[in-house]
Amino acid sequence: MPILQEEIAFVLPPILTFLAHFVPDRMTLSVQGWHLDETAAQLTLQVTATRPRVCCPLCQTPTSRVPSRDTRTLTDLPWGPYTIRWQLHGRKFFCDHPACARQIFTERFPTVAAPWARRTLRLAERLRACGLALGGEMGARLGHRLGLRTSPATLLRLVQGAPMPPAAAPQVLGVDEWAWRRGQRYGTILVNLEDHQVLDLLPERSADLVAHWLLQHPTVTVVCRERSALYAEGIRRGAPHAVQVVDRFHLVKNLREAIEAFLHEQRPALQAAAAGTAQALTQVAGPVAAPPRYRGRHQCSQAGQQRQEVAPQQRHAAWVATYETAQALHAQGTSVTMIAQQLGLSRPTVYRLLRRTTPPPPRSPQRSGQVLRPYMAYLIRRWREGCTDSMQLWRETRALGYAHSARTVSRFITRLRQASAAGWAPETQTSPYTRPQGPSARAVSFTWVCPEAKRAQDAQLYIDQLLHAEPTMAQAYTLSQAFLVLVRERRGDALAAWMTEASASEIAALARFAQGLQEDLAAITAGLTLPWSNGAVEGHVNRLKLLKRQSYGRAGVGLLRQRVMQAV
Ligand SMILES: [Zn+2]
Repeated sequence: MPILQEEIAFVLPPILTFLAHFVPDRMTLSVQGWHLDETAAQLTLQVTATRPRVCCPLCQTPTSRVPSRDTRTLTDLPWGPYTIRWQLHGRKFFCDHPACARQIFTERFPTVAAPWARRTLRLAERLRACGLALGGEMGARLGHRLGLRTSPATLLRLVQGAPMPPAAAPQVLGVDEWAWRRGQRYGTILVNLEDHQVLDLLPERSADLVAHWLLQHPTVTVVCRERSALYAEGIRRGAPHAVQVVDRFHLVKNLREAIEAFLHEQRPALQAAAAGTAQALTQVAGPVAAPPRYRGRHQCSQAGQQRQEVAPQQRHAAWVATYETAQALHAQGTSVTMIAQQLGLSRPTVYRLLRRTTPPPPRSPQRSGQVLRPYMAYLIRRWREGCTDSMQLWRETRALGYAHSARTVSRFITRLRQASAAGWAPETQTSPYTRPQGPSARAVSFTWVCPEAKRAQDAQLYIDQLLHAEPTMAQAYTLSQAFLVLVRERRGDALAAWMTEASASEIAALARFAQGLQEDLAAITAGLTLPWSNGAVEGHVNRLKLLKRQSYGRAGVGLLRQRVMQAV
């Protein structure tokens, strides 16, 4: 027997009493009538104001003198398939205060709708939430699904008109740049590092705007920033007493860039270590005898292979041209920011190009195997089991979810065959550290600053090989690891000693890095001493990227500011 629910006492009240329950403010409004238009699926409520007297919005003097009526049409939340509209009969009042500039005014309903608005507050609130979460286009589409008919332009207006949430007086501020368009236009984001709330979004990356903002927020006592002289200057002007702290993430980034510059000069060692790693990995994993070549269909034709190689060559030629233009502009004295703007690159990319003494080398064609990466372990297992038929293996990986061409699988299988013939373990073919030309200096520099515990096996084997190869390599490694210890354990007190040692070392890139620290020493020492860092800022910068992409790059700073500051 089903459990009986508590009996509901149904009643049949007069319909207007019933409808009155759905009006937001029953103290000031009463429902007088209703009209249902079935074909238009629209219910119209006739609503009138009931307060005998109201206050003038300007001087707050109460008044009850009514010269005329005022009727507005408001859209409210829908009910099922029906649009709900109100015919709101308000009034106009005389202000009786002799000194008041407002002689006549329209009755306001602050709990129901904004003055002159065409929709109720509660409808506007839901529409605004759609706009804040998804932006104009997508927000309007979701609105339609929810029965809230609107346009993208309306949503954007609602979002831009939304009142900002009151922010606590910030004490610890994080400042960083964010890209409007990478390499072309940057803005500034300000985050409260204590509660991780975005405080503001400035349309430019400029000392003036930061100084101006800080002057208006005198409670700030600590500012965490990157190493740019521009923000340092802005903070010095806007908050001269605040402690400036260089973000540790940016210090590690600069160290990594110095390592990369150092490794660029060490090409032969990078290459030799790759061969050593292939051997070491083979010792760990064990080689497989080369199985006989499978001669089936779907072998890559020579013409097809040539066709595929054309596109990367063109890309490489374009990079070489970019490199040469950047070098030429730099030689003429053009600033890095200007070069980045002219060439449509990010500033770090321009720095990377300018640091090079030779044009960038072509990318390895092995990079094209990225889509296969998740299936490589499986393919190697099958290879070790003796399955060498690339079509068969393609079908098997497809069953596991691989959705790309058989040719990519076949190319990987060819590499496994070549590796086996050379006496190497198939595992060497999944690793960027065993390529004959060696990994890029950039890739090694990332592994270099990565904590040992987080390194993959092949990465660690590679670093071991590299350090045993050359004494300068080992010296650079020891020095940079010592710096990373300063960062991780916040040993600002030991920074001076490290700088002396690095400056005296034979590693020019690290010596330059150490001398560079001198320019911003107080803030860097603070960064290596105080607990603050810009991790929360980086998180918001990433969120900002997502919001920007959702607006298809068309959002203005006003809209982005609202969306990043107001979580739905
Ligand atoms: Zn007045």
